[in-house]
Amino acid sequence: MAKCEVIIIGGGPAGLTAGLYTSRAGLRSMLLERGIVGGQIINATKVENYPGFPQGISGAELGALMHQQAVKHGLEVVTAEVTGIARKQPYSISTTEANFEAKAVIIASGSEYRKLGVSGEDRLTGHGVSYCATCDGFFFRDREVAVIGGGDTAITDALELTRHAKKVYVIHRRDELRAGQVLQQRAFAEPKLKFVWSTVVEKLVGDKTLEEIRLRNVKTGQFSILKVAGIFVAVGLTPNSRSFVDIVDLDDTGYIVTDETMTTSDPGIFAAGDIRKNSPRQIGAAVGDGVTAAMSAFKYIQNHDK
Ligand code: NAP
Repeated sequence: MAKCEVIIIGGGPAGLTAGLYTSRAGLRSMLLERGIVGGQIINATKVENYPGFPQGISGAELGALMHQQAVKHGLEVVTAEVTGIARKQPYSISTTEANFEAKAVIIASGSEYRKLGVSGEDRLTGHGVSYCATCDGFFFRDREVAVIGGGDTAITDALELTRHAKKVYVIHRRDELRAGQVLQQRAFAEPKLKFVWSTVVEKLVGDKTLEEIRLRNVKTGQFSILKVAGIFVAVGLTPNSRSFVDIVDLDDTGYIVTDETMTTSDPGIFAAGDIRKNSPRQIGAAVGDGVTAAMSAFKYIQNHDK
């Protein structure tokens, strides 16, 4: 069993920042990440609202820089998916690869794309159904596509897709967008975007690839069919907290409850970034949470070792 002082779960901006701080504080720190280090930002073509980069920076580059900086200061990064934590001191963290032991744990496991939950979605994912416009938009050059959702992600994706697609439908279940005003203004000024209001997706149809989507207007109850080559689902996120259900307190939507020191209901387990209840889900906020969680973990270990 690998032993260290702090285990960080999740390799996005919150986890990498926490790891940078705990490593620089002299604590032997390990970060466990099940996929690619960098977190959700690796899908962002351009990040314009993270301070220090006045020209913007690609999410992949920003994630790689954060990773590089944390490793330079001693953070060990291990590819493994956490399956549980045994709540006794030292904490025992079980993963798909091995078990780990640590005096403190920082959960920064973020969130993942929410699915529509309609017929055809799983079967056609990767065959016309995508959750990442930056990754897959390129494949729809001069085709007609649809984005589902009305939040910041949906509108950012729709605008990004206008660089490739001939026409982009935005299908939203209400008659006003949730996205911020600046994005809304850009979207309404973009001639390639067409809004389909008060409408939900009922079914995705296609043999080998997506051919059409079946829609229902929630106000009139009327059904319609839209023929598109691809859809981009952007209906929000769900927290990656399945492995922590009986370990720390979650709110009723699955986000981890913390106090302002990022301490959870267990005094040696901290949470940071998008996984935390009431997180503004911004890179800057995740970085701030990572700093606070690392400092709290440091204090906890100091007091515990006395
Ligand atoms: P979000 O803000 O939760 O928006 C999700 C959208 O999907 C909403 O419009 C929602 O409709 C709709 N929706 C949810 N479930 C649905 C379903 N089952 N069927 C159809 N539509 C459904 O999620 P997000 O856009 O991914 O953003 C997540 C967070 O990241 C937000 O805090 C956002 O501000 C932030 N973000 C910021 C930026 C930026 O540029 N600053 C970019 C991306 C994301 P309703 O509106 O009716 O609820």
